[in-house]
Amino acid sequence: MKVVFDDAQLAHYPKSFLSSGAPAENPEQPERAKILLKAALDSGLTRVVPPDLGLAPAAAVHSPEYLVFLQTIYERWRRIEGASPEVVPNIHPGRRDGTYPASAVGHAGWHMIDTSAPINAETWGSALRSAHAAVHAADLVLAGEDAAYALCRPPGHHATRDQAAGFCYLANASIAARRLGGRVAVLDVDLHHGNGTQDIFYDSADVLTVSIHADPVRFYPFFWGHADERGEGRGLGYNLNLPLERGTGDSGFLAALATAIARIAAFAPDRLVLALGLDAHESDPFKGLSVTTDGFRRIGSAIGAMRLPTVLVQEGGYLNDALGANLAAFLSGFRGAR
Ligand SMILES: [Zn+2]
Repeated sequence: MKVVFDDAQLAHYPKSFLSSGAPAENPEQPERAKILLKAALDSGLTRVVPPDLGLAPAAAVHSPEYLVFLQTIYERWRRIEGASPEVVPNIHPGRRDGTYPASAVGHAGWHMIDTSAPINAETWGSALRSAHAAVHAADLVLAGEDAAYALCRPPGHHATRDQAAGFCYLANASIAARRLGGRVAVLDVDLHHGNGTQDIFYDSADVLTVSIHADPVRFYPFFWGHADERGEGRGLGYNLNLPLERGTGDSGFLAALATAIARIAAFAPDRLVLALGLDAHESDPFKGLSVTTDGFRRIGSAIGAMRLPTVLVQEGGYLNDALGANLAAFLSGFRGAR
């Protein structure tokens, strides 16, 4: 099994972040990827660097005006006298039913859901290479590999078709799902609801989206991830949210996973994209759920036992002593079940 990663994904180093309104260190640090890469290599995976796949895979998911925004906003922002060192929105349209703005400040408000996806000089380059990692992992599976692990950093599942949010810029898992084509299930086990993935495929019947996460009633992303969000139009019934009470541990998570797996089996997909967050762990700084390291092994085993060709896409999971061990435990369970 291969781990797909490019060192250019380390360059993005966001500094600004607000936690309940208070300035704090941004948790999405490059060190995360170094720890995860070491754990993958120590687990016996072989590293490959993704080729330059250009813009087309991201353009299959994201709007052209959003991609222009991501590529140009930092240079435009720098020309504003007295602007912050990173692009961070200070105004939002609320309902986006007004006129598409012309200014950099207006564009930041339009294309950024919250303040936790700041953009600096390196952001676009790292985000594009992170998406390429996901696409190349999808290509490996299309070429016949049983599974491939895209070490995506920055992560992607909070990014919608035309908005950044929650450390995410390009929707890596969604881009991989589009690359795979056919009937695809996207299963998201990150601590946080995959609102971007849900948004992108909400009216689709060819991509089933399932997310297990801490109940958004009092947790990020707050506005999405509730159980009554089931899709719309042709996509009605093709989105399943399984919110868990804060603090839920292994048994509660595994019970929800069994429900998710039953729904995926009934959908009978050709392939699976797993949005693999590790932040549901009991030691993660976000402290939303209480999955143990052995719990990740069992989660990996249950998902591996589905025997679907699988693209693993890294999402969250923040600095704590168990971060590398959690990936290793997941991979051990997953590969042991194949
Ligand atoms: Zn997360």
